[in-house]
Amino acid sequence: MARVLLVEDDDAIRTSLTKSLTTAGHVVTALAGGADGIAAVARDKPDVLLLDLGLPDLDGRDVLAMVRSVSDVPVIVATARDDDASVVALLDAGADDYVIKPFSSVQIDARIRAVLRRRGPEQHSEALRLGALSIDPRSREVTVDGSPVDLTRKEFDLLLALSRRPGAVVTKRELLAEVWGLPWGGGDRTVDVHLSWLRRKLGETAAQPRFLHSVRGVGIKLAAPETGG
Ligand code: CA
Repeated sequence: MARVLLVEDDDAIRTSLTKSLTTAGHVVTALAGGADGIAAVARDKPDVLLLDLGLPDLDGRDVLAMVRSVSDVPVIVATARDDDASVVALLDAGADDYVIKPFSSVQIDARIRAVLRRRGPEQHSEALRLGALSIDPRSREVTVDGSPVDLTRKEFDLLLALSRRPGAVVTKRELLAEVWGLPWGGGDRTVDVHLSWLRRKLGETAAQPRFLHSVRGVGIKLAAPETGG
């Protein structure tokens, strides 16, 4: 079972795919426009995005690029083109897989299962340990050196977003999209303020980081003290 976001402007295809994917056990959110789709990716964090490339409001390739700037959700594109160059361009642009129209619901369900398998098991279901820091996504509990840390919802979401990519630099724009549902940015200050609160609660400062390392002009990375820089 996956939470599937379907972006398809053709009413008949959208309705029939929603029905068949629901029957296959998925939870489907179906939208007809690219802009709505991008917002829904940032807001709802679906397990997989099924994206029609021929949309009325935005070019599907632009939607793909915008989705990729804010999310690493697996994306399966539905395209009418099957020449090698188009397919390679789509995969280069960040698509995980593609289906050529017309396609069957059995085929699309198999592709969904395949991309989810490749992405591995649900990443954020198990507690993550980074040195003395432990983050449990299910109970939303955080401990440092075994002592519980009392975080607000946004502080926890921010830490969780960083913990999904330990050791990698995450941009403020990505954090705005993931934590605040603002894919277009414009709120760096919001991120900075929450980061400073989070740092204080984790017992560190920007000048003397322990887990949260700022990379000037790029973003933030979460890393254990012994591997952080
Ligand atoms: Ca279309």
